Amino acid sequence: MHCERKVTVMVRDGLHARPATQFVKLAKRFGAEIEVERKGRSANAKSSVKLMLLGIKESDEITLRADGEDAETAIHELSAFVVSPDAGLGHAQDAGSAQPDEAALVAAPLAQISQPVALGEGKLFGIPASVGTAIGPAFAFFPREPDVTLRRIAEHEILFEIAAFRSAVRTVTDDLSRRRADAALGEEDRAILDALIDVARDEEFNASAEGLIRAGTDAVGAAMSAGRELSDAFAATEDAYLSARAEDMRSMTRAIVLALTGTIQPTLADMAPGAIVLAEEIGAFDLAKANLSAIGAIVCLKGTVNSHVAIMARAHAIPLVVGLRGDEAKLAAASLVGVDGGAGTVQLDPDDAARATIEVKIAAERQEREGLAVFHAVAPETRGGRKVTVAANLGTLAEIEPALAAGAMGVGLLRTEFLFMQRKSLPTEDEQAETYAAFAKAFAPHAVIVRTLDVGGDKPVSGVVFPKEENPFLGWRGVRMCLERLDIFKPQLKALLRAATTGNLKVMVPMIVDVEEIRQVRALIAECKAELRAAGLAQADFDLGIMMETPAAALLAEELAREVAFFSIGTNDLTQYVMAADRLNPSVAKLNRPDHPAVMKAIAMICEGAAKAGIWVGVCGEAAADPNLIPRFVAMGVSELSMSPGSILKAKKCVTDI
Ligand code: PEP
Ligand code: MG
Repeated sequence: MHCERKVTVMVRDGLHARPATQFVKLAKRFGAEIEVERKGRSANAKSSVKLMLLGIKESDEITLRADGEDAETAIHELSAFVVSPDAGLGHAQDAGSAQPDEAALVAAPLAQISQPVALGEGKLFGIPASVGTAIGPAFAFFPREPDVTLRRIAEHEILFEIAAFRSAVRTVTDDLSRRRADAALGEEDRAILDALIDVARDEEFNASAEGLIRAGTDAVGAAMSAGRELSDAFAATEDAYLSARAEDMRSMTRAIVLALTGTIQPTLADMAPGAIVLAEEIGAFDLAKANLSAIGAIVCLKGTVNSHVAIMARAHAIPLVVGLRGDEAKLAAASLVGVDGGAGTVQLDPDDAARATIEVKIAAERQEREGLAVFHAVAPETRGGRKVTVAANLGTLAEIEPALAAGAMGVGLLRTEFLFMQRKSLPTEDEQAETYAAFAKAFAPHAVIVRTLDVGGDKPVSGVVFPKEENPFLGWRGVRMCLERLDIFKPQLKALLRAATTGNLKVMVPMIVDVEEIRQVRALIAECKAELRAAGLAQADFDLGIMMETPAAALLAEELAREVAFFSIGTNDLTQYVMAADRLNPSVAKLNRPDHPAVMKAIAMICEGAAKAGIWVGVCGEAAADPNLIPRFVAMGVSELSMSPGSILKAKKCVTDI
């Protein structure tokens, strides 16, 4: 029987990610051959990879076609699925069991790395990126493309190669399923693992690889070319979520090839507690997947102090050295590593004396931490009686507890981009209102200063297509993007107005270069207030401030100060723009000095502009925690310092010593 129906997709965000997975699971329940067509392109409804590549969005019209005995029921159920706005967005079991099977959970040993014998190397030097001393077993994290030789196979080898390919796919999915069962994983982590499992089990991918084997390619070559074809197709799409699937496809192909060749590579999830991660470079995404409390320290050959990995390391008090002058071979050969994140030094396989020195330093740091504990509840004042607020820079709800435990007097910078990144779709107004309210409640009566979305070409977000830019730091980021994407900006402003009813919430806008920008933001806030009022939703006003992080803003400080309630100086960006030195480029790291006279002069101008208009000034860049700069900032009139929670107690002490 043939059955066909045109339907308009109502699934929120379209057939992406989990809804696509659930749709495919539902389709697989039927014996009929099912096809989905959108804008003249069609795909097998039982392949989530191909289905995702159709890029079906909410409101798109699609045609469902089925051939087979149960065609009619299949079309009926699949149509019902796509017209339901929440289809596949709730529990992973919406359509069939998304749980891994029992056998998968017990199989597959953890990938392990064998630690080669110690070589007794000395001290290596790098850039200090997060303070703290640690010693622990080495965990070499150097994932790379597998080195394979492709081969043509004879007729009699075909069945053997197909069996080997299937077994490799099984090994990989079993390993992922076992990880998925880890109770410590969050909902989002599980969704990522589900997506990877789905890719490995995909009908089209498997059929294409097996087809190549039948045509005489060995299993390794077949997996690589079938994987490459799909990852190229994903990479060619303009959608941020779909192009990120290219990386899933590549890592999945790599894992299958590694299983086929019997090569074992580490992932951060395999690390022993207290281990020192040694890597070329670590992405924020890798780190987000790791158990951060298990990491003793991190050492990278690349990277800079202002990368988001460095910011995360400081937030979680993980010692970090970046830009290490060493090489991979040396790091990979170490078995025990000592790290001094404050000095930027690393010792591979320290001898007894060096080991003892490190242990002494660790004990001294512990003692200092204990000594600083008395500042926990202190609201610091200088000897002359100037009060200074010492607040925390945060990005996620998980950081609230550590920040309160670290004695934070509120939040001086809430980076909202973390709520938008690593997601498959934009957070809704309700979700945002709930999150901002949770921060406001947790820190009340202290203030929580929420920064509106600051993303750009270097920090992509699903749901926003960024233009390809030569210089993303000089491009369409921060308020520039928000003022042109009101569909993103207005829900955030409305969520902030709603959350302001729950605590002491303030809002600041990043990347301001002109008075007109802040006037436009104010006009939008007024529009949002009227719309909330019309909808009968509770709201409250908030103080509006701006990030002072561009030379233009510093030069216009007087004019800008008349428009806002406060300034917050972003020394990370202000330094890169004043010094014309990319904050992520290690070759110009030595120019990235907030204490450079040019940067300090810009900060002085900002403080003078603020003083004339009678508004207060805070510093929320990394320099806010620098004990050498704190007295200079306070002398210029700064009344709030906001920093990684790990630096708060020391900064409080510093203020009382002025
Ligand atoms: C800054 O630029 O100093 C800042 C605090 O913001 P971010 O590091 O998020 O750009
Ligand atoms: Mg900035």
